[in-house]
Order: sequence, then structure tokens, then C-alpha cells
Amino acid sequence: MSATPGAAKAENVKIVTLGCAKNEVDSEEIAGVLLQAGYTVDGSAKRSGVTVINTCGFLESSKEESIQAIREAVREKQAGRTEKVIVAGCLAQRLGADLMKLAPGADLYVGVGQMGRFAEIVREVRGANGVGLEVEAPHHRWADVKTRARTGRPWSSYLKVSEGCDHKCTFCTIPSFRGLHVSKPIERVLEEARHLAATGAKEINLIAQDVTQYGFDLYGKFTLPRLLRELNEVEGIEWIRILYFYPSRLTDEVISAMRDCEKVLPYIDIPLQHAHPETLKRMRRPGNGAKYLDLLGKLRAAMPDAAVRTTFIVGFPGETEAEFQYLLDFIEEARLDRVGAFVFSREASTPSFDMEGQVAFRTKKERYDRLMQVQQRISREINDGWVGRKLRVLFEDVRDGWSIGRSHRDAPEIDGQVFRKGVTEPGTYADVTIEEADVYDLIGRAVEGSAEVESAVEHRIPKKPQ
Ligand code: SF4
Repeated sequence: MSATPGAAKAENVKIVTLGCAKNEVDSEEIAGVLLQAGYTVDGSAKRSGVTVINTCGFLESSKEESIQAIREAVREKQAGRTEKVIVAGCLAQRLGADLMKLAPGADLYVGVGQMGRFAEIVREVRGANGVGLEVEAPHHRWADVKTRARTGRPWSSYLKVSEGCDHKCTFCTIPSFRGLHVSKPIERVLEEARHLAATGAKEINLIAQDVTQYGFDLYGKFTLPRLLRELNEVEGIEWIRILYFYPSRLTDEVISAMRDCEKVLPYIDIPLQHAHPETLKRMRRPGNGAKYLDLLGKLRAAMPDAAVRTTFIVGFPGETEAEFQYLLDFIEEARLDRVGAFVFSREASTPSFDMEGQVAFRTKKERYDRLMQVQQRISREINDGWVGRKLRVLFEDVRDGWSIGRSHRDAPEIDGQVFRKGVTEPGTYADVTIEEADVYDLIGRAVEGSAEVESAVEHRIPKKPQ
């Protein structure tokens, strides 16, 4: 791609984000870098100089969604509403030149880990003719945290502590395009947490592919316990939520740090994927149902009100009815608060794509329905157990005279909510006594004497600019 010297800056850059919270953080870093370089970033503007599509390449379905978004942006370009289109992120990294054929018409296809370079990238695209492809081996240059733009709710934010993954689960495409695990230096994480607190965050949600591996590449040891103890001291932050534990690394040391740090929520998001030892072996995952039950026992002994979320894959190649039944028995015994289930999806270039014993779609779907039925009953029973008890709630929304928030049991965007009649200012905490429950949500009333509005905040839930 040839750049024209002295090309004019884009007036506005529109960023469209697909996929998970990690992509959301990448987009905020891209937006921050662009704002600092003098661009505007406004997703709702009718016209833009440049449109960036931050793609997701995790599963076949997310790939389709990203391709649709690219095609839509290219149509906008043809209609003259945007001048240049940049395709960034996981799908560009995963497919490279193939994506240029599948979703043609963009001006540049650029891979992951380029957030800090985005001012340069946009400048290059604005002054260039022709199509560019910049997909190198994944590497991560942590953008200057001071420049990260906040696009979500001010009081809650994701904080990415590492990138990539060193595991080799046979169904997963992530390491192939996000690369090996790379930690963000501890002082950078702390600096970013302070920055988030200064811009209104009260809850930070630590994200990584495997948060338990944090620090190993930098410090030669798993450093999550130290990171938690240091984050616990950051002023202004009230809740620290940890997302995505790897089962064999949720050690006693991590559990102690979680128990000791009062800001760290007793919330365990631990994707187990299955429970049967043979299925797990084929998935190249550690442990088995018995070991997982031991671990849950330890967690609950240290943090009795811990909420546990996991995900399972049903219909993995070779999964027999007996293996599936073992998983259902495990679910009955484990009594997990939240379960997300996925029907196994064959992903090109993963070892499970060609494995023997592919399960018929109808069987996968039937197993999925059975699993969800069992889990819905369990989730409802666990929620019923909260009736009459008190929960601290971070309120986020007011609708039709009801305040809606989340307790320690509810991660943003994926879990349930807590409702109470009356208005509590979004972004504030209040205690709620639970009076009713359903499978996902709880309904309660304000605890007498609990501050209805603990701090005055002017902001309402902002619309995402993308
Ligand atoms: S641990 Fe998670 S991200 Fe890493 S390979 Fe396994 S499923 Fe993929």
C-alpha cells in the first residue's frame, strides 16, 4: 500500500465492534489512540472518513456476522457515506488474504495487537490507493492506557491483563490467531486501573483467555495473587471481578488471595467444557468431574457465597450417551449458579475438525436441550435460596419505575439481574433484600437504612458510539 505524503486527516472514524469483551477493550484502545491523534470517533455520525470493523473469528457463526458487517461497510463506502474501510481484529488475523476474497472491497486488512499503531494506520489508509494486508504473526503492543476511550457504562469497565493462550484445546481457534500468552506488565495494569477509577469505574472486570496464567511470561511465576492484592489497593475501585479461570491453575494461593481481598468478588467464571475424563482428554483439557467437585468444595469452603459460572460443549466428537450422562450427573452434583452450553462447532484448522466420531446435529441439539433443562431447574433452585437474603447491588438502569442492577453473582452482559421497585441512581450501590426469584433474575426491595443513592452521578447509561 503506497501512502501519499501530507494526506489530510479523517474527520471522523466510526468503529464497529463484534465479538467479546476483549474486542471491546481493543476498540476502546483504538478509539483512545485516534482521539489523541486529533480524529473524532463517533459511531452514530451519518458520514465518516474511515470505518473500522473490529472483527471476531472465534466460531463459524461469529465469522459470518463479521463478514456481514464488512459487506455493510463496503456498501456504505460505495454509497459515499464513508471513504475508507479498515478491517481489523481476529478474523483478519485468522483468515488473512482469504478474508480479502470472502469480503472484498475494504482498503486495509490488519491483524490483532495493532491498537497502539492506529493513528498511523488510519493516516496510511487515508493517503493510499489500492488494498493493503498487514497480518503479521500476532504480537501485542499495549497501547498507552492514558489514551483509552471509555465507551461503555462509566461505572463498570473491562481491564485486559493479558492476551493470547498457551493451551492447546483441540476445539479452539484462539491461539492460532491471538498467539501465545503475553501478560501486560503489572505496573501497566495498575496504572490502567487507576485511570479507569479516575474516569468513573467502580467495578473492573479482569479479562484474559486464561487469567490464571497471568505474569508467567514476565515474572517466571503465576502472578495473579500478587496482582489481586495490588489491585485491591486502588482507590475508587469497589468491585474486582475475575473472568476466565483455567481449572488446573485455580490454586490454593489464588483462592486465598480472592478470600483476603475484600474488593475481589466471590465470582468464579471457570469454563470446564466437559466433566467426563475421556471427553476432556480428547479436548486436551485437564482434570475430570471428581477433581472439579473437589475444587468447587475448596472454593465454597473459602467463599461460601461464591457464584460459579461455567460453559460446556455438548456433542464433542466421540461423546457417547454414557459420557453425556456423566456430564449431566456432574451438573446435578456440582450445583453451579450459571451454565452456558454450546453445541460443538467444527472449526477449520483445529484438531477436532477431523476427529472420528462426529456427533449428528440432531443428537447435539437434543443433548443441549436436555442439559439446559437440568441446569435451569438447578439455577432456579439456587436463586430461590436467595429469597429472604440480602445482596449488595450495583444499579445500572431505570425502566418503567424499576431499578435494575447486578450483584456479585452477575457479570456484565452475561448473567442475570436484580430488580427493585423505585429509582436508584445508575452507577450507585444499594443493599436489596430478595423477595422473589426466577431462573435468571432476582426481585427484591431496598434494605431499610441502606443508602438509596450513595453518590450523585450525573451520567445515565450512555449509548455506545459504535
Ligand atoms: S484455554 Fe480457552 S482460549 Fe486457550 S485454547 Fe483452551 S479454549 Fe482456547
